[in-house]
Amino acid sequence: MKVYNLTCEHDHRFEGWFSSEEDFKSQSEARQIACPVCESHAVRKLPSAPRLNLSTAQEPKIDAAVVQKQLLELVRKIVANTEDVGERFAEEARRMHYNEAPERSIRGVASVQEFEALAEEGIDVVPLPLPDALKQPLQ
Ligand SMILES: [Zn+2]
Repeated sequence: MKVYNLTCEHDHRFEGWFSSEEDFKSQSEARQIACPVCESHAVRKLPSAPRLNLSTAQEPKIDAAVVQKQLLELVRKIVANTEDVGERFAEEARRMHYNEAPERSIRGVASVQEFEALAEEGIDVVPLPLPDALKQPLQ
């Protein structure tokens, strides 16, 4: 699998995934590659990022399973180090912000509206999609 940095005539940059250089060429010639922004077919390949002269270096492979595992570990760590305030998340975040509650790391659920209201008040909250597996109580 090859990942190419592509650009269209309007300088919209995007990535294309191809099984090989030939695959890219044939799709390009058949005008099967379109810019995701303007749908232009005038797409060309950008020169790949300059690399250090390590001719034996392998292309880094992105393994979806590894990424998933790292994400799970990160989420687990966050879950282990935060207090679950559940539905009271927005309320608690606000109380902490206004020094009405002790400063601590909390997690919980907030609606989009609550989330936006918090952001407007300058309260930092980070949305974190929690995999279903981790919604169960931890062992
Ligand atoms: Zn474009």
